[in-house]
Amino acid sequence: MCSVDFTDTSLSLEEQVIADRIEELREQLGDQLLILGHHYQRDSIVMHADFLGDSFMLSQMAAESKAKYIVFCGVHFMAESADILTNDDQIVVLPNMRAGCSMADMATLVDVETAWKNILLHSGLDDPIEREDPTALASNDDKFLVPVTYMNSSADLKDFVGRHGGIVCTSSNAQGVLNWAFERAGKNGSVLFFPDQHLGRNTGNAMGIPLEKMSTWTPNQCKEVQGWKEIQNAKIILWHGFCSVHKRFTKPQIDDFRARHPDGIVVVHPECPIETVAASDANGSTQYIRNFVAEQSPGAKIAIGTEINMVARLANEHPDKHIECLDGEICPCSTMYMIHPAYLMDVLERIVDGEKPNQIQVPPSIQEGSLWALERMLSIKK
Ligand code: SF4
Repeated sequence: MCSVDFTDTSLSLEEQVIADRIEELREQLGDQLLILGHHYQRDSIVMHADFLGDSFMLSQMAAESKAKYIVFCGVHFMAESADILTNDDQIVVLPNMRAGCSMADMATLVDVETAWKNILLHSGLDDPIEREDPTALASNDDKFLVPVTYMNSSADLKDFVGRHGGIVCTSSNAQGVLNWAFERAGKNGSVLFFPDQHLGRNTGNAMGIPLEKMSTWTPNQCKEVQGWKEIQNAKIILWHGFCSVHKRFTKPQIDDFRARHPDGIVVVHPECPIETVAASDANGSTQYIRNFVAEQSPGAKIAIGTEINMVARLANEHPDKHIECLDGEICPCSTMYMIHPAYLMDVLERIVDGEKPNQIQVPPSIQEGSLWALERMLSIKK
């Protein structure tokens, strides 16, 4: 059982002292500072953010910002993307360097390169890198393997994708991105989608791709187990990654909610398993969920399948609606929760003192390819 009461948004005396100091430091830094906050951050962080959003929106904000210091209250891959999208004079700071993402860690460059080589070898597909423009539209005879990585991945994977004519997606624009990739793969081509199998499967399903045309790639499994035939027939090859928070939401939880509230509605994130998404009324990114809840009439009963900090915030913002988390016992994303206000205060103090604390710097060798992949992502409408 989770020990934190997420419905209590009041600050203790100590938290209030920290909050006041953060505001003083923000004032001192003025326009030089931009604080970005992901929807999964706790309220005592969100209250200091200049912008609150999903990873798509926050990466747009970072790309457009002129601030010298961008303090990213989110997880490591988000700060990396912000560093790639900003210029060399801008400093991206992650308040706690241990704030990573377990899903992003499920796909490493070594494993993806091994999968890539093996799939090309056994499928008869071609590597887009072999043509003059790896992102050119495919002709009828083409059969390319196009890599698509979810935003929740390390910068070296974004670089790999960028160099191989692929693209980054977020949960906001995954359908548009997959359409973009299929146009470049060709009629007989495929997409390798990593690291989140559920976002890939749910998006493919929503686009009408049959489940038997989506195969799962499990790293380090031998090909006999993997089944090359299935890989050869697949339109989308899904990496065996998942979010440990979203995989906890299940169809029985939805059944239980509907039994208690026959007129209730259920909205979930597409990182949830396909059975959960199929049993819900709607699914989409964190920004989609926010808009969905805002559009419901007063008195609506809504169960939400996403991270608890965001659900608790929505419940506080909409007291005229009954809002509950689909999993009553769920804990927050433990890595998002590593951004404590004391860490935020500490990095701001050090910035004021002239330091560059917890700076996220993507190595120059992988900046170019990852920038290509991210810019392609930003060009796709939701
Ligand atoms: S909620 Fe899941 S995907 Fe998002 S940062 Fe946490 S572990 Fe990663």
